[in-house]
Amino acid sequence: MDRRSLIKKGAVAAGALVAANSATKVSLVHASEKRFRWRMVTSWPPAFPILQTGVEEFAKRVGELTQGRLTIQVYAGGELVPPLGVFDAVSSGSVQCGHSAAYYWAGKCNAAQWFTSIPFGLDAQGMNAWFYDGNGLKLWEEVYSKFNLVPRPAGNTGVQMGGWFNKKIEKMSDFKGLKMRIPGIGGKVIAKAGGAVTLLPAGEIYTSLERGVIDATEWIGPFHDMRMGFYKVAKYYYGPGWHEPGSTLELIMNKKAYDELPPELKAALDTAAAELNVKMLSEFEAKNAMALQELKKDKRVQILRFPDNVLEGLRKLSEETIKEIAAKDPMSKKVNDDFQKFKKMLAPWNRLTEKAYYDFML
Ligand code: CA
Repeated sequence: MDRRSLIKKGAVAAGALVAANSATKVSLVHASEKRFRWRMVTSWPPAFPILQTGVEEFAKRVGELTQGRLTIQVYAGGELVPPLGVFDAVSSGSVQCGHSAAYYWAGKCNAAQWFTSIPFGLDAQGMNAWFYDGNGLKLWEEVYSKFNLVPRPAGNTGVQMGGWFNKKIEKMSDFKGLKMRIPGIGGKVIAKAGGAVTLLPAGEIYTSLERGVIDATEWIGPFHDMRMGFYKVAKYYYGPGWHEPGSTLELIMNKKAYDELPPELKAALDTAAAELNVKMLSEFEAKNAMALQELKKDKRVQILRFPDNVLEGLRKLSEETIKEIAAKDPMSKKVNDDFQKFKKMLAPWNRLTEKAYYDFML
C-alpha cells in the first residue's frame, strides 16, 4: 500500500470515527435525559427473608445498573395491593412490575402453573435449562402476552420439603382421611389419595396443627418452616417435596411499561432478574442446609424420607392429575407437552451425572 492511499484510508477511518463518536454522544445525551420511576408490588410479607429481601436487593441493583435512570420503589404484599393482587395490578398497568409465583394465577390462567413447579416436575437446574435454553421462557411470554405481561424467572426455592405430619406415612393408604394443608396441584394429588385437603392462610396453620384441626401441612423448607415453629407441634418432617421440586418465582412487568424502555434499560432489568434468579436459589440452598443442621438437634422431631412405595404412588397420581389439568385448554396442553418432552430429554443425562454423583458425594 503506498503512502497516498494510506493517508486516504486513514482520513476515511478518522472521519468514520468522528461520525461514530458524535452519533454515540448524541444518543447517550438523548437517552440519559429520560428517567423512569417504577413501582413494584410483591406477594410477600414486609421483610420476609429471602423473598422480599431478595426483591429489595433486585430493585437496588436495577438502580445501580442504570445509574439511576430506572428506579423501582418496592411495596410488600398488602402495602399497596393485597398479596394475591399482584397479577391484576401489573396486568392493568396500575403498577409497572411485580414479584410473585405463577401458580397463584391458576384460576385466571391454567397454563401458568407449569412456570412455577408441578409435582414430579423439574428441579431448579432443570427449570432454568427449560427457561433459558429450551422453550420455557418463550412459552411463558406467549401465555402472559394476552394479560399484557412480560415474565422473567426471578428466584427459585430449590426442592422443597414434603411437610410436617403428626402420623407416620409408610404406605399410600396412610393418606386416607389425613387432614392436610397443601395448596395447588399437590393438594389435588393428596385429595386423590383420599386425604382431606384444606387451604389455610399462613397465620392459621400453626394453631390448626397444634389443635389437631389438621394432621399435616407443607410449607417451604427447613429455614422458613423453623420460623413458623412447626417443629413444636408436629413430630415427623418428611422429604422430599415431590409436589414442588423447583418452584420458580417470577418477575412480571407490564408490557407497555417494558416496551417504553430504551434497550439498555431493558437489558439492565433482564440482567438483574437473572442475577436475582441465581442469588435467591443460592440463599435458599445455604439457609435450608444450615436450618436442617439445627433441626436435627431437636429431639422432638424425626426427619424422614418418604418410602419409595409412597413416592411411586404419589407420582402415579400426579401424572393422572397433570394430564387432567393439561387437558383443560389448548395452551396448557402445549406447555405441558413441551415441559414433559424437555424433562424426558434431561432425565438420562441427569441420571448419568447428578444422580450418580450425589450417591457418592453425599
Ligand atoms: Ca410449598
